Amino acid sequence: MAIVAFVGLGQMGRPMSLNVLRGGHTVRVFDVDKSAVEALAAAGAQACETPAEAGKGAEFVITMLPNGDLVRDVLLGKNGVAESLSAGALVIDMSTIHPLHTDQLIADMASRGFAMMDVPVGRTSDQAVTGSLLLLAGGTQEQIERARPLLMLMGNELVEAGGPGMGIRVKIVNNYMSIALNALSAEAATLCEALGLDFDVALTVMKGTPANKGHFTTTWANKVLKGDLSPAFMVDHAHKDIGLALDVANRLHTTLPMGAVARETYNQMRAKGRGKQDWTAVLEHLRDASGLPSGVNAQ
Ligand code: NAD
Repeated sequence: MAIVAFVGLGQMGRPMSLNVLRGGHTVRVFDVDKSAVEALAAAGAQACETPAEAGKGAEFVITMLPNGDLVRDVLLGKNGVAESLSAGALVIDMSTIHPLHTDQLIADMASRGFAMMDVPVGRTSDQAVTGSLLLLAGGTQEQIERARPLLMLMGNELVEAGGPGMGIRVKIVNNYMSIALNALSAEAATLCEALGLDFDVALTVMKGTPANKGHFTTTWANKVLKGDLSPAFMVDHAHKDIGLALDVANRLHTTLPMGAVARETYNQMRAKGRGKQDWTAVLEHLRDASGLPSGVNAQ
């Protein structure tokens, strides 16, 4: 059983630290909110006055904070963890923060002789309570193996993300996709309503198509990811069809902002001579626009 310092006892950190406590570890807690510390102390944790006090003698330090500036402050600021940390300790940041902050923090901690890894989590506070979070583990293989038993008290699935800083990167990509998709889904539902179409009918149709299944494993898998841009469904037609939706929405004074941006992307593709390519060529178009090398040779 280890001594674990836990800093940040909010909606996520509170149940996560409770699960570490229930796992039999000694848990030393700190939060700027005293009532949060008291609640954990009542459950058996050791209350601390500063991050430095929490970190003293700890084998693991976990941070679960709102942003990267706060993580930096807790680790490297006045009365921060680094003031008292033992050389062999492992710091695990589980917050969702800017990936470049993560890189800098890992480097700054390393320059002081401390090991740090990123393990942000997927899912919500409900899963934090039940110990069934999705753990997105950055860090070296050795760090992951060392932290695994502790992490598995808080989650039930651990993804090895590919090295230091990659946990936060996969978290950002996943969140980008689901947050943008949430807004796009609302546009589709609003269009449905404006057209007087039964949403259940639209849902039945979309369940069997990339609209609901997504593109990565459906359309992309057989075309652009195989280097095949010959048209199964042409960019010209995709451009026409999204235009139909936008036009009718405009006539009904229904706003589809993400769809309008998507049409411009297909518009650009046509201007670049991709009109007769498969619509999955959008990946190649964005690679090109971002200065990334092409993934395919096909025309
Ligand atoms: P929260 O605001 O509920 O908790 C943050 C805690 O940090 C608070 O108790 C606050 O008092 C404390 N805190 C702030 N500054 C501090 C400091 N300097 N020293 C010590 N404690 C300090 O936030 P949360 O929902 O628990 O989220 C924490 C992190 O987890 C965030 O990065 C969030 O993006 C991420 N996350 C949240 C969810 C979710 O569903 N809530 C899911 C996945 C990831």
